[in-house]
Amino acid sequence: MTRARQHVAAMAPYALADLGGPDSRPAPSLAQNESFRPPCPGALEAVLATMADAALYPDPDWTELRSMIAAHHGIDRDWILCGSGSLELIGCLARAFAGPHRAVLAPEHAYPYFRSAAQASEARFDAAPESDCTASADALLEAVRPDTGCVFLANPGNPTGTRIPRDEVRRLRNDLREDILLVIDEAYGEFADHLDAPVFDMAETGNTVILRTFSKAYGLAGCRVGWGTFPKGIAVDVRKVLNPNNVSAISQAAARAALQDHAYMRKTCAQTAERRDQAAGKLATLGIRCPSSCTNFLLLDLETQDRARSAEARLRSGGAVLRRQDAAGLPHCLRMTIGPERELDSAICLLETWIGECMP
Ligand SMILES: *Cc1c(COP(=O)(O)O)cnc(C)c1O
Repeated sequence: MTRARQHVAAMAPYALADLGGPDSRPAPSLAQNESFRPPCPGALEAVLATMADAALYPDPDWTELRSMIAAHHGIDRDWILCGSGSLELIGCLARAFAGPHRAVLAPEHAYPYFRSAAQASEARFDAAPESDCTASADALLEAVRPDTGCVFLANPGNPTGTRIPRDEVRRLRNDLREDILLVIDEAYGEFADHLDAPVFDMAETGNTVILRTFSKAYGLAGCRVGWGTFPKGIAVDVRKVLNPNNVSAISQAAARAALQDHAYMRKTCAQTAERRDQAAGKLATLGIRCPSSCTNFLLLDLETQDRARSAEARLRSGGAVLRRQDAAGLPHCLRMTIGPERELDSAICLLETWIGECMP
């Protein structure tokens, strides 16, 4: 009998969505923030064509993909690293920069993977308070301790859906100690790009990383492609702990094709925002409040943990799967992806029925 290292053995497994439906078959999921649109048509073609060369290893330097990302966002391609999803980049950043004397700090309702990544690195995880489910630069700055090594900020946040203006992110960087790495996770950045100017230039500070992904707005969650813009020195070290062939050739091809169809992605974002705001309106008439969302999901405030559990069970028995948020310190909330129209309407109808049942 042998055992994992103590800090790993003590970790809770990462809580993935439970997608089981009432008859234990997977139900259509509103639990994982996947796009309701398929990948753009060009991505399907590109993947098929690339399969012909699948006997070969992929380009380990993501050369073409990086050039396209760089051109699209006006950044230097030498500053970009790609990951098997942005999760891989988050994990590797924690491996390289967090540890026993380098604690991780994040907002209180942060993306739960930040905590897992900290724990896997034997780093303490500290949380800074939020108000109204919104992160605050001041609260993060106040929560910094002498041994803080990294700050992780998802903006917009998941599961909150809220965001802080990018000026506030710049102020956070400006007022943070220089030896602290700031990781700005913009997994939902494309849904908020019309709101203010991008922050990719912040990598030039030498201690800031900005992450994005093809999983959400580009509808390629199954391909596992994330990327980030890194200060050069940091990129060199993170690269050392990445899987050297981390993004498959077909995934790189799909991501390149997705970048070429900018209009398709913009339409996804516009349709998502329209459906999201309609859904939030309907929920409000049912008395269910949601923080204002800049993403492809809504955080439903059910007021108590018991009500959240009861609503979740009712939804699941009707075939709709939403995600509980206990891991993000929001046990009274459920997160609902702006999924396919039918599933979304059906989930809202089920909530209406549930409310009727609660108040006979
Ligand atoms: C979905 C999500 C990710 C993970 O994205 P992948 O690129 O699919 O690994 C990272 N951060 C946040 C905040 C997310 O919501």
